[in-house]
Amino acid sequence: MMRQFELVERVKAYDPGADEAAINRAYVFAMKMHGSQKRASGDPYFSHPIEVAGLLTKYRLDSASIITALLHDTIEDTPATQEDIDRLFGTEIGRLVDGVTKLSRIEMQSDHAKQAENLRKLVLALSEDIRVLLVKLADRVHNMRTLHYIQSADKRRRIAMETMDIYAPLAERIGMQEIKAELEDLAFGELHAEARASIIARLDFLREQGGDLIGRITDELNRTLADAGIAATLSGREKTPFSIWLKMRKKNVGFEQLSDIMAFRVVVDSVEDCYRALGTIHSKYPMVPDRFKDYISTPKPNGYRSLHTGVFGPERHRIEVQIRSREMHEVAELGVAAHWHYKTDGGAVALSTDGRQYRWVRELLDILEHASNPEEFLEHTKLEMFQDQVFCFTPKGDLIALPRGATPVDFAYAVHSVVGDTCVGAKINGRIMPLRSRLGNGDQVEIITSKAQTPSPTWERFVVTGKARARIRRFIRTQQRAQYVDLGRAILTRAFRAEGYDFTDKALDGVLKIFKAASSDDLTAMVGEGTLTAREVVVTVYPELKAQQRAADNIVPIGRKSRPASERREHSSNAVPIRGLIPGMAMHYAGCCHPLPGDRIVGIVTTGRGVTIHTIDCENLEKYADTPERWLDVSWDESEGNAHTGRIDLVVANEPGTLGSVTTVIAKNMGNITNLKITNRTVEFFELIIDIEVRDVKHLTNIIAALRATPAINSVERARN
Ligand code: MN
Repeated sequence: MMRQFELVERVKAYDPGADEAAINRAYVFAMKMHGSQKRASGDPYFSHPIEVAGLLTKYRLDSASIITALLHDTIEDTPATQEDIDRLFGTEIGRLVDGVTKLSRIEMQSDHAKQAENLRKLVLALSEDIRVLLVKLADRVHNMRTLHYIQSADKRRRIAMETMDIYAPLAERIGMQEIKAELEDLAFGELHAEARASIIARLDFLREQGGDLIGRITDELNRTLADAGIAATLSGREKTPFSIWLKMRKKNVGFEQLSDIMAFRVVVDSVEDCYRALGTIHSKYPMVPDRFKDYISTPKPNGYRSLHTGVFGPERHRIEVQIRSREMHEVAELGVAAHWHYKTDGGAVALSTDGRQYRWVRELLDILEHASNPEEFLEHTKLEMFQDQVFCFTPKGDLIALPRGATPVDFAYAVHSVVGDTCVGAKINGRIMPLRSRLGNGDQVEIITSKAQTPSPTWERFVVTGKARARIRRFIRTQQRAQYVDLGRAILTRAFRAEGYDFTDKALDGVLKIFKAASSDDLTAMVGEGTLTAREVVVTVYPELKAQQRAADNIVPIGRKSRPASERREHSSNAVPIRGLIPGMAMHYAGCCHPLPGDRIVGIVTTGRGVTIHTIDCENLEKYADTPERWLDVSWDESEGNAHTGRIDLVVANEPGTLGSVTTVIAKNMGNITNLKITNRTVEFFELIIDIEVRDVKHLTNIIAALRATPAINSVERARN
């Protein structure tokens, strides 16, 4: 296990200005927090974050990254909290650790191959700071190196697949070639252990037979280049078992036919020397057709530059040769880390918040943005693109991608239409949150459903996905029509009865054409929504009625002073119950008088909107005095238990505590305040309007009585208009 001073020394070696004290504090904090925890290998858990930090020193990362590496598992696996990290190490570190913690919660479910693409996007989206991704990759490298200690074969396999499908491609994408190769090879060893073992055995065999073949070829290439006057550093290696395996699969050849298993690297001083070295090699050794690639004139999307060629080299062995300058070599080895290193002139190494790191991130964005090579895993995907998306999880860990601004309702509809239709609430990361909340990246969302629930018209105002909106609209349209049909039928029944006829659907058959209605439901819906009056329908069905001189006052509203009480009662029996009508669809409560169950009420049919319910003494009813055909006798549905909004006007003394006693009295009487507005304020008095959810008019009357008994309250009235 690396010791504290060793780690600090390694960092100081490339970054003399590193925050030594902070690294030491992080080291001690992590060691304390992980305490006696053990890894699957039996090592103390704390050896893991140190190894991860050590890996990152190779890439000369700033102290914030090193500290993040030391702390990266403390939130997930120890009692430490995000607040602790923020307080002890500052918000920059806090943000980085939080990012890595979120990434560690991502788990690919086995065999959900199509998730891989989304998961890669999620990882990128969560890695708002590239250092988060670098720490995560180092974490994965160490976990893969110690994968064989894990007992469960299923778990090993899942981690290996995740590494192969998500982390290796991401490492490649940001140019961390070496990490990519190591991750792939380790994952390969888990997923295809036998294949890897046989490739290694074969490589061993060839090595025995050929002696130090790599050494001999390296020497000869070295001499060849020196003779041409080119100063070069050469290195040779066998390709990794995984890359050999890929080639075998791609070319569908057996290991015996696969000669191209050695690769040599030529590092020279300048771009010019690269091409000179290439010319020298090509003039001495026959070239393998179609193997030459010039990544200097056309760099790879991740910034990689090199010349690649294949030749029949020394002893007629088929080899691959990569030629590059020192600078290119560093980029190839260190990926984005090197990229950033160059831009800071090698001097000021620390990634500070003065904008340098943002330039670095921008450069990464550029690299990602200009990726157009279809062979790339993340083809045509730009980091910016993910800014329009959020990625959330179901409780089972399935990933749901949604547009930014999406709410739990959108999430519910994305899971399944039925889940959307019946959702009543949502838990986001374990906490109950309003359905209109906006979801964030990595949120785990659990939708609570109820069979009694139906889509609410209010949802339409905050959903952002087309699917949710379409479902809600369609439901409302269907529901609204059903409500109009019901209401229209009730109105027609009453109008027919007033003339001494029984209403049946059949009675309408003869007049459907006249009203351009497709069915009797169609016609009753028209009456319900108020585009057609019941009287028009009745006199069309029974034309003889039209001939009779009739007063239009048959439907004169009840409750008018001119009407005798006896008649009122008779009408009540004909009243259309508002049972089953959903507020906001075919029926609306008037905003002026806020009718409550128990109030005497009347409906006003409003063209295209169904019926609006007023209290019988509402002043606004005067407006409809001249159109009696629009008045509709309605009655409350006794069984209905929904909350209704009552409104009260108050005048209270302008002194401390008054408002408190008002709200206390209302709460004691089980009223729920939904709105409160101060309408006037003088030296002595406040005037208020308060909306309260109550069961019925009696409930509201009780509250008003209780308020009147409160000393600081001057007057209380139920609001009228
Ligand atoms: Mn870890």
